[in-house]
Amino acid sequence: MSDFAEPLARLIDELKRLPGIGQKSAQRIAFHLLRDSPEVAKRLAAAIIDAKEKIRLCSLCNNFTERDPCRICSDSARDHSVVCIVETPYNALSVERTHEFRGLYHVLHGALSPLQGIGPEQLKLKNLMERLKNGDVKELIIATNPTVEGEATAIYISKLLKPLGIRVTRIATGVPVGSELEFADEVTMLKAIEGRREL
Ligand SMILES: [Zn+2]
Repeated sequence: MSDFAEPLARLIDELKRLPGIGQKSAQRIAFHLLRDSPEVAKRLAAAIIDAKEKIRLCSLCNNFTERDPCRICSDSARDHSVVCIVETPYNALSVERTHEFRGLYHVLHGALSPLQGIGPEQLKLKNLMERLKNGDVKELIIATNPTVEGEATAIYISKLLKPLGIRVTRIATGVPVGSELEFADEVTMLKAIEGRREL
């Protein structure tokens, strides 16, 4: 038996499904929403639905976008010969925030993890190979997380791409091993890109 009325218990349960939100935070947010005006709750619900309906994946880089190709892929001022490979759209944002990387991205939407049943087929690798066909890309910077899964993914991709004669580099682990790139600050991220090494 829940301590809360059914609709409130349901709201707390849904909030708890969000990353970084535990039982206490979920309760705090739910109580806050109930105290606030109905308009606040309606605006939040509408924003979630609107984003979910309008944001899709760029067909080239798999990043979140409202238009396809995305703003970065269709920017002719960017260096289309360098592609930075990341696990998540959030990781692409971390690199973008350095304001130093002027190339393009490729979002894998995951990392290899045999234990969780994530193999190469589950990653967005197919359209990466498509992108490399025309020979425009000269360097791939692999910026997967410095975790066991991220390293395994980096090695897999470098083996896959080496025969194509493209320079493959791996960002330096200025980021502590085992940590996630989304928590790296801009300076750490910039150093990691500058200190990249050949794979
Ligand atoms: Zn794109």
